[in-house]
Amino acid sequence: MLTNLEFDRQHIWHPYTSMVDPLPCYPVQSANGVELQLTDGSKLIDGMSSWWAAIHGYNHPRLNQAVSEQLAKMSHVMFGGITHQPAIELCRRLVAITADELECVFLADSGSVAVEVAMKMALQYWQAKGQTRRKFLTLNHGYHGDTFGAMSVCDPHNSMHRLYRGFLPDNLFASGVDIPFGAKWNENDSSLNHFSSLLQQHHTDIAAVILEPIVQGAGGMRFYHVNYLKQIRRLCDEYQILLISDEIATGFGRTGELFACQHAQIVADIQCMGKALTGGYMTLSAVITKRNIAETISQGDAGCFMHGPTFMANPLACAVACASLDLLAENRWQQQVKNIAVVLEQELRPLAESPYVQDVRVLGAIGVVEMTKPVNMASLQKFFVRQGVWIRPFGKLIYLMPPFVIESEQLCRLTHAIAEAVSRPDVVFG
Ligand code: PMP
Repeated sequence: MLTNLEFDRQHIWHPYTSMVDPLPCYPVQSANGVELQLTDGSKLIDGMSSWWAAIHGYNHPRLNQAVSEQLAKMSHVMFGGITHQPAIELCRRLVAITADELECVFLADSGSVAVEVAMKMALQYWQAKGQTRRKFLTLNHGYHGDTFGAMSVCDPHNSMHRLYRGFLPDNLFASGVDIPFGAKWNENDSSLNHFSSLLQQHHTDIAAVILEPIVQGAGGMRFYHVNYLKQIRRLCDEYQILLISDEIATGFGRTGELFACQHAQIVADIQCMGKALTGGYMTLSAVITKRNIAETISQGDAGCFMHGPTFMANPLACAVACASLDLLAENRWQQQVKNIAVVLEQELRPLAESPYVQDVRVLGAIGVVEMTKPVNMASLQKFFVRQGVWIRPFGKLIYLMPPFVIESEQLCRLTHAIAEAVSRPDVVFG
């Protein structure tokens, strides 16, 4: 009989991992606060928040309570022809905490599905107005998920486009947004020229612009200048193109604002949220739109928006999302994120001196150390686990986005492990 790890290796797909020569997997037995406990009893401080999601840490009594109270009432019921308190309560809150103009909420299953929903909404919006629009305009280095619509607006130079060429819709990609967040703005910056010329050329065929506001996550952890976002909003208004903001990674405080669009004081027409929505407890996403979009879609030929997943508005997920939003407010997330930013800045900034480091950047509760070349994930991860921390690098990037509840000493364990690694090219590059 195979051991658990042997079975896992031979029979179970992991994200972006070979079934022939998989990278090692670490067996987690439980997770509590900001620590993951492995089956051998060792504890790792979590620097990843399970990919942006677990902002309040793990096994939180309040989140547990919300799930178990809801479980005792009903775990799931279809949303077609039925509604329920957890969904109503959650949507009330989402309407309240997002910009005033965002009013109508669609609850979906995951981030990628939220992006599909947003794109379908944009297409149906134009159909309802009697126009066929076939393209989306987006930015290079973006990432929006792994389903087909979402992949079609991910950075065109990564392998996903090459792999599915011929099947993926052909969209438009603007280069640029090269001035970093917080850097001096250059009035004569030409980066937006490409964006605006694509818009000018194709605006009658573009359904929407879709982007990650301020922070481009999985496409390279790049933080771009607020003026790009302001200008893009202005251009979308000028050409009357919808703007879809993918706040799936940035939403719920991670960048220092509740939603990253607020850095630029702009409001998208359609906003996607996911990940931290449930405090990382379970999968749920939400798409919120301006009322005129919902109304236009509803007045089209179809008479409705054509999407309705089986687990739409799952009551357990909605209940835990409400509890997570309560915690966010009570815990004073702004202060938590500020404290994390101060430590990340203090501890990571000096690493920029290393000849192996290309750049260090910090925004809110996100800290990134970009190395000069791709890291050896297996050797670096093993090193981090030995140091008692959970940090999962990718490409040239070693980065932290810890739970908001992390204490400074715990955060320093993470940053010190990175500092240690950076001084060991044999470990980092393998
Ligand atoms: N958009 C962004 C900006 C993301 O970071 C992600 C996930 N990394 C997604 C969409 C897709 O979300 P999910 O993995 O929940 O499908």
